[in-house]
Amino acid sequence: MLPDDCSHEKIGRLPSIVRCSLADIKERREAVVLTTEPAWEAVKGIDVHSQQPVYVDGNTKADMTALAEACEGEVIYGIGGGLVIDTAKYVAASHGLPLIAFPTILSTDAFLTDATGVRENGCVHYLPSKAPDTVIIDMDVLCNAPAPMRASGAADVLSIATAIWDWQEAEKMGANPSTQQVTPQAIDIGSTLLQTLLDNAREIGSGTPTGLKLLLDLLCMEVQLCHLCGHSRVEEGSEHHFVYAIENHLASTNETTNGETVLHGELVGLGILLMAVLQSQPWMQYRHALECLQINYRPSAVAPDVIAETLINLSDYVMQHQLPYTVATTLRVTPDIAERTIQTILD
Ligand SMILES: [Zn+2]
Repeated sequence: MLPDDCSHEKIGRLPSIVRCSLADIKERREAVVLTTEPAWEAVKGIDVHSQQPVYVDGNTKADMTALAEACEGEVIYGIGGGLVIDTAKYVAASHGLPLIAFPTILSTDAFLTDATGVRENGCVHYLPSKAPDTVIIDMDVLCNAPAPMRASGAADVLSIATAIWDWQEAEKMGANPSTQQVTPQAIDIGSTLLQTLLDNAREIGSGTPTGLKLLLDLLCMEVQLCHLCGHSRVEEGSEHHFVYAIENHLASTNETTNGETVLHGELVGLGILLMAVLQSQPWMQYRHALECLQINYRPSAVAPDVIAETLINLSDYVMQHQLPYTVATTLRVTPDIAERTIQTILD
């Protein structure tokens, strides 16, 4: 029993992670497999007893609720990237079923967290869902994934660069709520994760087992740091707010992307560079890291005028959605500043 006077502050924990080959998996329960066509192809031959796999493509709450209602089985498998696994978390939580996550690319940290990001009213909201019960890591599958995708989750570690700046600036301005005060230890630990990523970007981007194992470790430590802080300010700042705003823009004007999928990590990479310039940080080291990581921070599907418009409207956007204080909160980006900032990082 816990003593009555102890505070019931719950600290989240990481799911259990199993490193094995997909050939070792023998699932005898009736499984619902959520995946995408390329991810399902990447795990061809996996011995999971399931009816047809369900291909996931929507990221609204309505999409996920509809999927959850249609799914029936004893265990849920999420095989693929962030969207698939986030959806699987939601479906498993709503049925109270066990969940196995099998990331085929390290494109986000979604397989380590217990909330599902959904797009609603023009922004991203996190619904409590559940962390996977088990995460399966097959290094061969990860190493053989397409280079621009397999390590794109590194952007969620690189984002510490701009997020920490924002968090510390907010502290100076007295804009952090009492539960989100900066501690020097959190800054030190976050900075060490960032520096380790910068030092090893080429190895990670090359997709070697050593590099991808290190990226997995960094994602685990970044998520664990957020658990201990009780919030994500150490890795989620103006660069993510920019991503939410531009995703919203892209979603509302479908023709802009010509049906191409833009990865979360690509947009985060772009957001990091833009915000680092606006923060007057030495941003070139971050661009160099993105290049080493093989993360395409200039996706062709995102036109420069869309980036400019998003920058110009960003302070209104963060006010409207009541996002935490960052460089985007007070900075008035004129069309001129927007154009210069974009030119700076894309030249
Ligand atoms: Zn992210």
